[in-house]
Amino acid sequence: MIRDNLKDIERTLKSGVRLVAVSKYHPVEALQEAYDAGHRIFGESHVQELVAKHEALPQEDIDWHFIGHLQTNKVKYMASFIGVIHSVDSMKLLREIDKQGKKAGRIIDVLLQLHVAAEETKFGLSPEEVVDMLESEEFPSLKNVRVVGLMAMATNTDDEEQVAEEFERVRKFFHFLKQNYFSDKSEFKELSMGMSGDYLIAQEHESTLVRVGSSIFGERHYE
Ligand SMILES: *Cc1c(COP(=O)(O)O)cnc(C)c1O
Repeated sequence: MIRDNLKDIERTLKSGVRLVAVSKYHPVEALQEAYDAGHRIFGESHVQELVAKHEALPQEDIDWHFIGHLQTNKVKYMASFIGVIHSVDSMKLLREIDKQGKKAGRIIDVLLQLHVAAEETKFGLSPEEVVDMLESEEFPSLKNVRVVGLMAMATNTDDEEQVAEEFERVRKFFHFLKQNYFSDKSEFKELSMGMSGDYLIAQEHESTLVRVGSSIFGERHYE
C-alpha cells in the first residue's frame, strides 16, 4: 500500500521534482516498506526520532532531510549524517550547523525557511531577515554550511488561490536571491514547497522538493 501510494504520487510529479517522504510519527516498519519499494529520501521533524530511525535503517544510501523546527543544541546529533536541513530560521542556528559541520568534517546543505503563511505560528524568516543574513559579515565565513535554496509552508487553508499566491511569492523571492546573491552558485537551486494537500499547486510554482507525509503513510496517530 505504501508502495502504491509512492508510485501514485511519483506519477503526478513534474520531471526534476523530488519527493521527500515525510515519515514522522510512523514506525520504522513503514519506512522500511518505502525503502524496499526503492524510496530513498525521508523527512523527519524531531531529532530523537530521526536519530533512532537513522540507526535502525540502512545507513549507506538513505538521504535524510530534517524538516522541523530545530533547536541549536540538537544539531550535533545529526551533523554526521543529515542530507539537508530544510528549516534554518536564524543566524544562530546557521552558525551552529556550520560549527557542527566542521567538527564532523562535512559541509552541510541547508535551506532557509521563509515565512509566508498567514498563520502567526509558523516558523521562518522574513525576506528582510534573509537579506540581512546574506549581507552579514559573518555569512561568508561559514564554510561548513551550504545554502542550497529556500523552504516554505503555505497557509493551511482550502483557498487554493491564497496558497498559490504564497508559493508564487516564494518563487519570486528565490529568483531575486539567485540573481543578487547566488548568481555564481549552481547549488542554489532548491525550492522546498508543498505537502500532501498542496504539492500539486507548489510544483506549478517551481518547487523542486515536495514534502509529502499522510498521502504516503496514512494519518499520523499522535502528534
Ligand atoms: C508534517 C510535515 C509535512 C507533511 O505533511 P502532510 O500533510 O502529512 O503531507 C511537510 N512539511 C513539514 C514541515 C511537516 O512538518
